[in-house]
Amino acid sequence: MRIVLLGPPGAGKGTQGKILAEMFGVPHVATGDIIRDHISKRTDFGCKVEAAIAAGNFATDEDINYWVSRRLSEPDARSGYILDGFPRVLTQAQAFRGTVDAVFWLDLPELSAMERIAGRWVCPCCSTVYHLVHCAPRVLGQCDHDATALVKRPEDALDMMRFRLEYNRSQMWPVAEHYAALTSLVMIDAEGDAEAVTERILCELPPMPLAKLDF
Ligand code: ADP
Repeated sequence: MRIVLLGPPGAGKGTQGKILAEMFGVPHVATGDIIRDHISKRTDFGCKVEAAIAAGNFATDEDINYWVSRRLSEPDARSGYILDGFPRVLTQAQAFRGTVDAVFWLDLPELSAMERIAGRWVCPCCSTVYHLVHCAPRVLGQCDHDATALVKRPEDALDMMRFRLEYNRSQMWPVAEHYAALTSLVMIDAEGDAEAVTERILCELPPMPLAKLDF
């Protein structure tokens, strides 16, 4: 199953991406994770993208297209992938040559997205995402898996939020239109708990060939 998850920051792409990836036994390919991994390892790309972010820019399409296609060419992505955060802009969607079986737009009102971003804490070690209220760690401020101290993502700063929501929505909506014209786009109501959202996505998945199912 090859799925693209679109939607504004905070809509739950990372949360659903992880759940679906585990369910289908395919990798959850999140550009945010790829970038953060490069920054923490101080690779050439990591240093370049860190400087770009500090100057208020983004990674270039060329770099992102390269790293995503490289990730998708790894053996574990042969039977599928869940793309989260990519394609983020129309030019990336137009350049992307991979197969896509289903595209979902996780639809969430701005106020709910802001509440989710405000409560989001992440583990810098294993990238698990928590929410102070909806998906709290067992010990406050500490990752359930490796006990690492949880951090806020720099881009989740409250004063940046409204701009980020509007900017991302305006950049990503043309991607949604691109897929609506090319294959199909399914709007998913992203309100409610994560399990309910997963159920809505599963109801809309195209049927899989029987040979691919793992009994
Ligand atoms: P995105 O990847 O779209 O930016 P995330 O998956 O990181 O969004 O979710 C944003 C925040 O909201 C996280 O703190 C996450 O734990 C929480 N969250 C995700 N889905 C839900 C949900 N259905 N209900 C409540 N909180 C959620």
